[in-house]
Amino acid sequence: MSSKRDYYELLGVEKTATAQEIKKAYRKLAMKYHPDRNPGDKEAEEKFKEINEAYEVLSDEEKRKRYDQFGPDGVNGQGGFGGQGGFGGFGQGDFSGFGGFEDIFGDIFGGGFGGFGGSGSRRRGPVRGADIRQRVRVTFEEAAKGVKKEIKVTRNEECSECHGTGAKPGTSKKTCPNCNGTGTVRSVQRTPFGNIASTKTCPNCNGTGEIIDTPCSKCKGTGSVRKTKTIEVDIPAGIDDGQMIKLSGQGEFGEPGAPKGDLYIIVEVTPHEIFRRDGYDIYIDMPITFVQAALGDEIEVPTLDGKVKYTIPEGTQTGTVFRLRDRGIKRIRGNSNGDQYVKVNVEVPKKLSEKQKELLREFAGECGSKEHEKKATFGEKIDRLFGKKKK
Ligand SMILES: [Zn+2]
Ligand SMILES: [Zn+2]
Repeated sequence: MSSKRDYYELLGVEKTATAQEIKKAYRKLAMKYHPDRNPGDKEAEEKFKEINEAYEVLSDEEKRKRYDQFGPDGVNGQGGFGGQGGFGGFGQGDFSGFGGFEDIFGDIFGGGFGGFGGSGSRRRGPVRGADIRQRVRVTFEEAAKGVKKEIKVTRNEECSECHGTGAKPGTSKKTCPNCNGTGTVRSVQRTPFGNIASTKTCPNCNGTGEIIDTPCSKCKGTGSVRKTKTIEVDIPAGIDDGQMIKLSGQGEFGEPGAPKGDLYIIVEVTPHEIFRRDGYDIYIDMPITFVQAALGDEIEVPTLDGKVKYTIPEGTQTGTVFRLRDRGIKRIRGNSNGDQYVKVNVEVPKKLSEKQKELLREFAGECGSKEHEKKATFGEKIDRLFGKKKK
């Protein structure tokens, strides 16, 4: 599969080029033809492979010497590149057999080859720690005003003995002998259509390419230990029921070398017996007497900041809603507040004494259509519907 083009020509360098010049030329070309920068471009992909093939040889002193002497066939003929496929699985879209390849790319592309290199055949990186979700319950007032809460979190934390490496202190990880550190193994399956080669995650190292020879005794090689910790969480003023607070990096410890997960605090707000909430506005129902409603009165309305005096006018109807500006909840973003809405409900008196009833009858005798406009107009509507009763 290897192209017979001249490797020096491919990289655009002289035969006398230094290792530094070769590396520099390769970087420039690799960036230009990298599949991430040329999505779907087969020609670029082909070129990219050729450049890598050339660099694989010319960057290695031994291989370069053989190439200079015998050409590409000479290199292959020495069996230095993994036999049949030529360059260690190259051409299957698999770069796993590549020493130093990722090192070169690490600082250019930030590591990782998104979308290139076949299906999951690359060496697997350490897995990031899982996220944790934890609920915390606060009162209505705490949600409105903000509060600090202590919560207990049970999670995997870095092992203090091995500092998360999983290897016994003083020892280090070894390259997996089963896959030679590539994290993948090749297998060839015989089928009626011929031999089909495939790459699988190495079962010995789970695709990490490394194994721990002497595991840390404290964490048994996992790099982490289970712990319960108390964390203080700042619950911001204005938070509402069901909203989440994200604490980055406070989740589970990942595999050695991988970032930790995040901790999500889900806030549950206990309903209040007076206040209800919609967004940043507060709603309350306030009972008043029918005398207050008829004569008007100064009432004391409860708010989050204490009682507030409010004058209801003479002739206030039941169900009337008053607005108290800025008496709602402070917005999480910005400095303004919502409003408070007060709905007044006229309570009809029950269990009246004989004297009270007498006074009301007297009062009723003084009333006509003037005092009860709605009732009077409604009566007229009924009359139109059924015809005026004759007396
Ligand atoms: Zn340990
Ligand atoms: Zn392995």
